[in-house]
Amino acid sequence: MDFSRKNSTFPNRRNLDGRKTFRSFFIRFRKYIFFAFAVLILFLSIQYIWKEKRFRYIVIHHTASDIGNLAYYRRLHMKERGWPDIAYHFLVNNGSYNTAMGQIEQSNLWDNKSINYSTKVSYVNYFGIAVAIVGNFERHSVPALQWESIVNLTTMLSQEYGIPPERIIAHRELWETACPGKNFDIVKLRSEVRKNLESVSQ
Ligand SMILES: [Zn+2]
Repeated sequence: MDFSRKNSTFPNRRNLDGRKTFRSFFIRFRKYIFFAFAVLILFLSIQYIWKEKRFRYIVIHHTASDIGNLAYYRRLHMKERGWPDIAYHFLVNNGSYNTAMGQIEQSNLWDNKSINYSTKVSYVNYFGIAVAIVGNFERHSVPALQWESIVNLTTMLSQEYGIPPERIIAHRELWETACPGKNFDIVKLRSEVRKNLESVSQ
């Protein structure tokens, strides 16, 4: 006589029907399955809120130097400051290092919606979008094409993330620093963004 499972005359109930097996598994573990599902939904919701709904400020910087692009400042910040990436979410270029005047580069920080490293106020680093403009606006004024880019970018971010123009702030309004330079008119930026937002909503 053959007593091996394969040829046994006693049917193995569990393997008779795949669907039955799944049903009994589901019934047996349904509490845990619902719990795992709820945890997953909660995790995804928190992740979504963190990435898409947390931004409260836009902080404007200058690089205080007339050279460089995103790759250049990324290297500089990682090597000299020891930060894990560039300090900013966006960089508005001035034409140096094979960029175009006013060209906007987006960093990994923005791709991942990570915190930024641009100020000493951690609340603002967590809840702010950091935008830097290549140039030293202590020494010279903002070129027209860069100004146009910064107005467009901040209008777009302000609209997309529901950040009112009064929360577009210059680094110097947070800390004792000249950044983004005395020739950068933050009041004018807020009023141009406000005007753009009003014309969009009409
Ligand atoms: Zn700054």
